[in-house]
Amino acid sequence: MLEEIVLTMYGKGLEQCSTDELYGALIALVQKRAGEREITGKKKKLYYISAEFLIGKLLSNNLINLGIYDEIKDELAKAGKSLARLEEREPEPSLGNGGLGRLAACFLDSIATLGLAGDGIGLNYHFGLFQQKFKRCRQKEEKNPWIEKAGWLIPEKQKFSVAFGGFTVQAAMYDILVTGYENGTNRLHLFDLDSVEESLVKKGIDFDKTRIRENLTLFLYPDDSDEEGRLLRVYQQYFMVSCGAQLIVAEALERGSSLHDLAEYAAIQINDTHPSMVIPELIRILMEKGIEWDEAVQIVTDTCAYTNHTILAEALEKWPVSFIETVAPALVPIIRRLDEEIRKKYRNPAVAIIDEENRVHMARMDMHYGHSVNGVAYLHTEILKNSELHDFYELYPEKFNNKTNGITFRRWLLHCNHPLAEFLEETIGPDFKKDADALEKLLDYKEDDRVLERLQAIKRENKHQLALYLRESQGIDLMEDSIFDIQIKRLHEYKRQQLNALYAIHKYLEIKRGKKPARPITLIFGAKAAPAYIIAKDIIHLILCLQKLIRKDKDVRPYLRVVMVENYNVTNAEKLIPACDISEQISLASKEASGTGNMKFMLNGAVTLGTEDGANVEIHELVGDDNIYVFGEDSDTVIARYERGDYCSRDYYEKNPELKEAVDFILSKKMVKIGDKKQLQRLYDELLNKDWFMTFPDYPAYVEAKERAYADYEDKRAWAQKMLVNIAKAGFFSSDRTIAQYNEDIWHL
Ligand SMILES: *Cc1c(COP(=O)(O)O)cnc(C)c1O
Repeated sequence: MLEEIVLTMYGKGLEQCSTDELYGALIALVQKRAGEREITGKKKKLYYISAEFLIGKLLSNNLINLGIYDEIKDELAKAGKSLARLEEREPEPSLGNGGLGRLAACFLDSIATLGLAGDGIGLNYHFGLFQQKFKRCRQKEEKNPWIEKAGWLIPEKQKFSVAFGGFTVQAAMYDILVTGYENGTNRLHLFDLDSVEESLVKKGIDFDKTRIRENLTLFLYPDDSDEEGRLLRVYQQYFMVSCGAQLIVAEALERGSSLHDLAEYAAIQINDTHPSMVIPELIRILMEKGIEWDEAVQIVTDTCAYTNHTILAEALEKWPVSFIETVAPALVPIIRRLDEEIRKKYRNPAVAIIDEENRVHMARMDMHYGHSVNGVAYLHTEILKNSELHDFYELYPEKFNNKTNGITFRRWLLHCNHPLAEFLEETIGPDFKKDADALEKLLDYKEDDRVLERLQAIKRENKHQLALYLRESQGIDLMEDSIFDIQIKRLHEYKRQQLNALYAIHKYLEIKRGKKPARPITLIFGAKAAPAYIIAKDIIHLILCLQKLIRKDKDVRPYLRVVMVENYNVTNAEKLIPACDISEQISLASKEASGTGNMKFMLNGAVTLGTEDGANVEIHELVGDDNIYVFGEDSDTVIARYERGDYCSRDYYEKNPELKEAVDFILSKKMVKIGDKKQLQRLYDELLNKDWFMTFPDYPAYVEAKERAYADYEDKRAWAQKMLVNIAKAGFFSSDRTIAQYNEDIWHL
């Protein structure tokens, strides 16, 4: 089928085509097939607005979803061409940062897979987040251009105009087709400015943050450590929601809405607070169209729903009124009026939208003027209701609901782990591809030696493939018979990569003293740190120094390796996850809202080593005590200690000689020789004087649990049974389930 296309496109056969030509032809083929399946003719449509869509490469996934993957692969192979080469050639779109953006991408896949009408709305960042390079044991940021002439972006004719304070811009819209698995197609709408000037970026990721017309869509989350960077974020947010709101209204009118009934034509999901200004913007547009205040507010409330992703106070956005005055002056009277209504209705200043310092609390606006507030895992939603957002829960108990996150099994099983997907199909049949709960049939094989051995063989093969990939792409050598213990996620103190690094030091010292592990251990990390997040960068520095130290130590390197993968992204995740033995999910209990990495690992037969946090709690409940390693203090203990405010990390350090030795090693001669004394000292001081995310209290339990997991790993059969149970129970974490629940409880499409 590709043959015909290249013939019309280039006037030659498949054999004669270059990689670029084949890639272009495949995009054309996918666009055509996907276009034929567009979901149209439905009255109500969902709009998922998000500052991030971490969609990953699209080619293979689209071929799988269109049901033509094998056919294309064979056709290429017959012409002596390899699909894998084309996959490598595709750049990864850089439109997201971490879990929140990846969730949005999984949701789009599931919405289309369930045949629901639902589009994404976001921004077309030219240089994405940033590309991470390691130089002298440090993270360096470079721009990450990914947009190509022949790519997935389809320029659309519609133009939008956005009025900022003092000037107006014309926006362009680019669409990416979103295929569902053997079902319909939706769209991801990405807004952009024609006047954006890529040459504004000189060295690294620095640029003039004041030239809004030229810089608006250059980067995702430009450095917000200074006021100009923060203001630019507000410009981006308003640009996104103003274009989005105009599109939503125009499409609703086209589908026959009178706008008085907008909520019957559109559902808007606000993914975290970045798109919150869509509420006042929609009110503004409806009033412009002649709808009175009270009715406009009601229509918007009935249309909008808010998802909370975090309880970290610093992550709940509060914008000074003066910023909004500068960026979107038309919204200020609307936000003030919304605030006045709330102040009249409720005495509690803690629920006011604008606070004493004249800052607009975006989440509060969402909770008052949206009809649904959801958390992203059971524990997270409980913490929102009982502590973090308790005042709002008392006002609106009916608005609060939980939607435990999920992942798309197309990307995170069918695409990234062909051997496992094929083996599952042979063993339990193909049902699990559409009905994730059917994975439970695998439980019937828990005592079947042939199945257990195959699971181990597949894991060995995936470890081998990862070793090839990392050698090729990053010059890293892995010991394939070692335990692959993997922690990959954004770098943040609450995720506690530093706890894992302390273990690495402990193990290093133990081996130095002659105590060798039963089997070599490979601790694999992958993480980007926000460019202005100093301590996060210090933790990366520590890990890279340890990697170097151990690699050069002849006594230790046969038994232990620390490996930090450069530029962690979706493409790397797809290689790392199928090869993992132990999945590190060690956030401080109460701090990780859900996690989705934990689900991807479980689905691919890794066993979790984790705290009772986020969706780990639900994983634990599903697989039972024998198939997970849980350690550390629970969320109640942690929350109570924060309330008392009496945590003193130094007490733990003084009382535990093993911990003290590991911490002191950060400043040892060996480390200072490799690394930067200033950075290591800063991290050491941070741990000893603050340790805000309480790594020290959990340290002994962490070491104990990890050693227990490593010891258990030696019983191959028992370990394969744990793998099997994890895979079998992962069905709950399909984003198809999550989306079905959003639709049932919130969207009503
Ligand atoms: C799944 C995913 C994440 C989220 O990982 P968590 O462990 O849940 O924080 C982040 N980045 C990428 C590239 C992912 O695929």
